[in-house]
Amino acid sequence: SYFALLTNAVVQLLGLFPILAKGIESARSLGDVFDADDLEHNDGKVVVDEVVGAFTVEDVTFRYPDAATPVVRGVSLAVAVGETIAFVGASGSGKTTMLNLLMGFVAPTSGRILLDGHDLSRIDLRTYRRFVAIVPQQPALLTGTIRENIAYGMPDVDEVQIAQALAGANASEFVADLDAGWDTPIGQGGAALSGGQRQRLAIARALVRDPRVLFLDEATSALDGASEALVSEALQRLMAGRTTFVVAHRLGTVRTADRIVVMDRGRIVEVGSHAELIAANGVYARMHFVAEAPPE
Ligand code: ADP
Repeated sequence: SYFALLTNAVVQLLGLFPILAKGIESARSLGDVFDADDLEHNDGKVVVDEVVGAFTVEDVTFRYPDAATPVVRGVSLAVAVGETIAFVGASGSGKTTMLNLLMGFVAPTSGRILLDGHDLSRIDLRTYRRFVAIVPQQPALLTGTIRENIAYGMPDVDEVQIAQALAGANASEFVADLDAGWDTPIGQGGAALSGGQRQRLAIARALVRDPRVLFLDEATSALDGASEALVSEALQRLMAGRTTFVVAHRLGTVRTADRIVVMDRGRIVEVGSHAELIAANGVYARMHFVAEAPPE
């Protein structure tokens, strides 16, 4: 029986080995993160505790460090508070780079961007981004409940705010239909959500943050009619009264944007409202967008 005890103990020790190996590997990855240099140098920069949402882009050129030619060239644009600006243009024309510049994820190679009159390069970007929400093309949902997905990073959000955000995003109904309402886990083993539902959760996530500035990267594929109408209605609600920059692929969005900025190989080639640009019969007038699906 001593022998049996001994072999059992050895077998148990051996069983621990994979766990230990995993732990050591995790600690090593964490170390990499902690040791990494800051990508942004925010210390000592201007802390903004209010963002109104006016932007001035002054002759901005941007070139990726490893690229030979710039992807944004001599762009100038003044954006009023609450305006919706839709960037359109062929793939690779620099629309996403424009969003990245305005979010401060990359800095202009030359020229400058002013936010409410402050040079973005002098602002502590962490403080600016408290007033910003981003709705990406493919919203990343985290493993966790619906509530956690909406309120992550915001410990002070209460039930009323979550309910309002869900309602504003046209998501109350489908969430209420889930087994445990907004406490239903999503992702692996949890509720399976459709594309339109995921987008509406991303909109609720943005609404609860009550941002001053909004960045949207529109989905390129059409949703089904009913979903489409719910998503675009929720988006209109989200954009109201907020400075919005959207990489637009849909006809509904460009029609309602205050101004459309047409980009071609890094330059702005046309600026105006849908009606103005159609009347001008230029590049924009020849472009095609994802049409709204007819309501079902
Ligand atoms: P759009 O959104 O209009 O499709 P992008 O702004 O994404 O255009 O890209 C503009 C150009 O910049 C493209 O030619 C793309 O290949 C290039 N580009 C994008 N990201 C990088 C990067 N990280 N490094 C080098 N070039 C890039």
